Amino acid sequence: MVMDASVPPDEAGGLLTIDLAALRANYQEIARRVGPAETAGVVKGDGYGLGLAPVASALWDAGARSFFVALPGEARTLRETLPEATIYVLNGLFEGSPPLYRALRLHPVLGSEAEIARWNGFCVEIGQSLPAAVHVDTGMNRLGLSATEAVSLAEMRHELHFPIALIMSHLASADEPHHPLTARQLEDFRAIAGLFPDVKASLANSAGVMSGPAYHFDLVRPGIAVYGGRPRADMAPLSPVVRLELRIVQIRHVHAGETVGYGGAHTALRPSRVAILSAGYADGIPRRAGASDLRPGAEAVIAGQRCPLIGRISMDLLAVDVTDVPDDAIAAGDWAVLLGDGLGLDDLARHSQTIDYEILTSLGRRYRRLWT
Ligand SMILES: *Cc1c(COP(=O)(O)O)cnc(C)c1O
Repeated sequence: MVMDASVPPDEAGGLLTIDLAALRANYQEIARRVGPAETAGVVKGDGYGLGLAPVASALWDAGARSFFVALPGEARTLRETLPEATIYVLNGLFEGSPPLYRALRLHPVLGSEAEIARWNGFCVEIGQSLPAAVHVDTGMNRLGLSATEAVSLAEMRHELHFPIALIMSHLASADEPHHPLTARQLEDFRAIAGLFPDVKASLANSAGVMSGPAYHFDLVRPGIAVYGGRPRADMAPLSPVVRLELRIVQIRHVHAGETVGYGGAHTALRPSRVAILSAGYADGIPRRAGASDLRPGAEAVIAGQRCPLIGRISMDLLAVDVTDVPDDAIAAGDWAVLLGDGLGLDDLARHSQTIDYEILTSLGRRYRRLWT
């Protein structure tokens, strides 16, 4: 068990527990499903908000040897944690950064002809042939060479002064089952990967992993599924990894007809008891997670019972309707569960009009964190 010493127990409004055993089990479940393809660890965004170093170490222990981060700064931290890992940096190759990539043995994921020229020029300049990945766009229209540029690259490959370690693309809509774009991307990527027959190929994120063996190629890049999020709209998540408990600061009475919180967005329809919890949008709880008079909100588990969040979430506080919890079952100082005890990431995400990814990566810095 690792404890974050930065927030002492009596000073935190919330306790965030990160179950690294569940994380390792989720990784191994995916690795088993896709074998013999390799399963990489995707640890961008501070390990999806759960701590780059502890998450990366756990994935390494579970068998991951290749890792993806977004930025060279993240790669620097990751290299300190995992001296032996293969590290890919997704957001390309910023001007001036090649020496850092060389010093830390990072693989840039080159996503434009300009970046390929930059890496190639650097390799010529230092007289070393340093491996890089090449990203090809097949429908995301975000990063990557066009199909035409990929064909030219394949034709002039013998002129490159570096080896291509990986050819990859990214799925845009695989989380929606049977979205026509997904099959089209697969077909296009297969053709492009075929131009580089001796290079390892990679297409699948979590949703791609779940879309079947045709999507696996040589290496898969699952993120959200490993962190306990829902990989596809029609599939259950693997094991939950995060548990979030919030301190109850006080319990108050509200008369029927009175409103709760900023803007008076929620009206009590009956005499109510309301628990005020010590976390808010500054801790990553979406401002829209509470019920208004127009729509339902997310829930918390208090004394074993599901209770609705009501009114707009404040910066540091939120309100929960605990009218149906017996009076003697709760008191100020108790803890409410916002994630865990059957409440998943997608429960909170759905009621806040967002996605599991955003909930995870927004989890605040003020919680006391515990990695078990
Ligand atoms: C974030 C990311 C992944 C992981 O995606 P999930 O949907 O979290 O599985 C894979 N590949 C690329 C290029 C990414 O940016």
